[in-house]
Amino acid sequence: MSPVQFQRGLENIRPYVPGKPIEEVQREYGLTHIIKLASNENPLGPSPRAMRALGEEVSRIHLYPDGDSYELRHALARHLNVHPDQVTVGNGADGIIVQTCLAYLDDGDEVIVGKPSFPLYDIYTHVMRAHLISIPLRDYRLDLEGMAAAITPRTKIIFVCNPNNPTGTIVHADEVTTFMARVPDHVLVVFDEAYYEFVDAEDFPDTLTYVREGRQNVLVIRTFSKIYGLAGVRLGYGVAVPEVLAPLLKVKEPFAVNRLAQAAGIAALEDDSFVEGTLAATANGRQFIYRGIQRLGLSCIPSHTNFVLVRVGPRASEVVQRLLTRGIIVRPCDIYDLPDFLRVTIGTPTQNVQFIAALEEVLKELEIRG
Ligand SMILES: *Cc1c(COP(=O)(O)O)cnc(C)c1O
Repeated sequence: MSPVQFQRGLENIRPYVPGKPIEEVQREYGLTHIIKLASNENPLGPSPRAMRALGEEVSRIHLYPDGDSYELRHALARHLNVHPDQVTVGNGADGIIVQTCLAYLDDGDEVIVGKPSFPLYDIYTHVMRAHLISIPLRDYRLDLEGMAAAITPRTKIIFVCNPNNPTGTIVHADEVTTFMARVPDHVLVVFDEAYYEFVDAEDFPDTLTYVREGRQNVLVIRTFSKIYGLAGVRLGYGVAVPEVLAPLLKVKEPFAVNRLAQAAGIAALEDDSFVEGTLAATANGRQFIYRGIQRLGLSCIPSHTNFVLVRVGPRASEVVQRLLTRGIIVRPCDIYDLPDFLRVTIGTPTQNVQFIAALEEVLKELEIRG
């Protein structure tokens, strides 16, 4: 008897490796005090307004949620100045990425991504038995010219992760304009803007304009996980014209966004002071990390996000491992084919101090000098 054969596309998948959960590091190293700076979560905690809404919603969780997320979609539409029919919500931005791949990819289609970029694009491209076309970054930024040059009649989706994870770099408005002029109608451009709210560059592209203009091959994805501190309830959204969203709605799970996520999302959108506080803390923390890294003789890639890519050198994975034994979880970057780097999320002021101090100790122990 031969074993049940899994779907052929899965052979090509390198499983997604998330940041280590705090509980796992506690168990493995017997530590009580752990700092997690590995998944770009909000170190200030969840939006207080969202927490209040969650408390109120708990008494209703015996009821199925609104599968259409009417109120949340309308709140988002007001917030973004688009039509409610141009908004869909998902089980995280991840959920929207998955729906997009399920809805659009046929066997043998081509998907263009940056290398390195967010790993989920690769995984679902393979699930759908489509071909992954990875275009190396240039100076740690997406190479939009190279990505446009890679378009063929089989190209179906281009993922533009802007700012790009794990590098924290952006592509600018003029570059995106030039790029979009080269993209033919049969190609869907997915702008993954998970860190949109953190960007303060003036020449950052306003991609929602494409949707407002009715462009039929653009999807913009954002999330409540980062700026609003709601990674644990899982809520993200996509913005596109209804023609682009219709296939996604066909493949979506009927209740993909649960009741708690819907309530939290509506409340978080009104939490301006929390967003402002997060942005200020992120900007200050980023400067502190830059200075600390420089003092240690290392360098980093200037970031437009709440994380920083730090060049540690050939022994980066040892450094990450030793930080772990001190209760500090950061992201190793070998899976991104950046073995000399680690990625660290900006934490609270105290966490940032502890990170730099621990890094200094580890570098001394390993006799690494920048
Ligand atoms: C964090 C992240 C996501 C996933 O967001 P969720 O809403 O938590 O699923 C998607 N894309 C990028 C680039 C991210 O960094």
